Amino acid sequence: MKQIKKVLIANRGEIALRILRCCREMGIKTVAVYSSADSELKHLAFADETVCIGPAQPGRSYLNMAAIISAAEITQADAIHPGYGFLSENADFAESVEKSGFIFIGPTSDTIRLMGSKTNAKAEMIAAGVPCVPGSDGVLPEDEAECLAVAEQVGYPVLIKAASGGGGRGMQVVRDPADLIGKIQIARTEALSAFKDASVFLEKYLETPRHIEFQVLADGQGHAIHLGERDCSMQRRNQKVVEESPAPGISAEQRAQIGALCVEACKRIGYRGAGTFEFLYENGQFYFIEMNTRIQVEHPVTEMVTSTDLIREMILIADGQPLRLTQEDVQFKGHAIECRINAEHPRTFIPSPGEIRKYHAPGGPGIRLDSHCYTSYRVPAHYDSMIGKLIAWGEDRATAIARLQQALAEMVVEGINTNNELHRRIMRDEVFTAGTHHIHYLEKMLEAWAQEEDA
Ligand code: ADP
Repeated sequence: MKQIKKVLIANRGEIALRILRCCREMGIKTVAVYSSADSELKHLAFADETVCIGPAQPGRSYLNMAAIISAAEITQADAIHPGYGFLSENADFAESVEKSGFIFIGPTSDTIRLMGSKTNAKAEMIAAGVPCVPGSDGVLPEDEAECLAVAEQVGYPVLIKAASGGGGRGMQVVRDPADLIGKIQIARTEALSAFKDASVFLEKYLETPRHIEFQVLADGQGHAIHLGERDCSMQRRNQKVVEESPAPGISAEQRAQIGALCVEACKRIGYRGAGTFEFLYENGQFYFIEMNTRIQVEHPVTEMVTSTDLIREMILIADGQPLRLTQEDVQFKGHAIECRINAEHPRTFIPSPGEIRKYHAPGGPGIRLDSHCYTSYRVPAHYDSMIGKLIAWGEDRATAIARLQQALAEMVVEGINTNNELHRRIMRDEVFTAGTHHIHYLEKMLEAWAQEEDA
């Protein structure tokens, strides 16, 4: 390593532990920052230094840029890894990190800003020759008649989305022109309160697409590669629940073709770090929807089928080293599936924070559990309900599913509710096991389960 000898991990939970493990393997010192509600986090026990950055409320701790940068100054860290969520896609944060003399483990603030706007990102992709969902040319104008004309031209149903949106929030489906203006107003209000930006745009609403995304790595020095795709079609309220790689039914030719377009786009925007190009896939066609300029929750499935460590590559790139891998080095082997384990009721999704009284991790060939939990750990109520990710690799998809079924049965988390039972249902569901599900299928499965319970 040239420059990075100490990394401050600006996150919590499983991803903070994941980054810490990687740094320790690489001989890099670590600084763990935490809120006062998080003093029991597992990675704090392994960090070289720990700094409490504020109270439980994320706005006053994990989203508090000044507190995090001060912690980096006090501990003389060289670099900051933002993980996912929180400040990971905040261009102002990346800029402050850079201006304060630290390395931001991710793209430049300019790239984050550019791709953080879905309308700008789409414009870049169209210029790079990447197919996009048909829609408005940039953000919608104020004029109602113009909006109606745009929607008419795109064709109903349409989807109104926040230009600065994220987390699946603030989207409105419109099937009837009479509802368009009202729904634009709702979307604008939601977008303003959630993302401090009222601008919205419009896209053709695809009825039964799959969500397929491509992982990329780029060094910002002219080299970029793709690491294949992930299918994240098992979603509830636009939030991913199960992810896998490769996507069922995608041919090596399609992978190479779309992957090459993503690589071209990286070169075009001078991308640096790990990133994801998200697409919807319907009737054999890919349509770009957005880019995530950070590591993603579901990165382990890619790591398992490509035998790579994406966090390690991110750190090496941030250290200024040219990409070690060529496209030919990336070989795909077998199949990996990830279940997001959440502290919530498996059917009603009511969050279930509290003390884990008994915890037992599953194991065996091909099983990976990324989790910060342990017996007596108290899941705080203040943050996302995800408490871990259970990932299985197998020679083929059926083996990965069989291994997940066994691992889910072995896993014990007592004292709180988890969504384990939901995952067990998914892993034996005929449509999922056939690989013919789309982004609305899980909601259908949940309706059927609710009816079963009522009967
Ligand atoms: P966010 O940044 O809020 O996650 P995305 O643009 O990534 O928003 O979309 C999230 C999810 O919403 C997608 O995975 C998909 O399920 C659904 N979605 C987005 N765009 C469309 C569309 N044009 N038609 C149908 N569903 C869509």
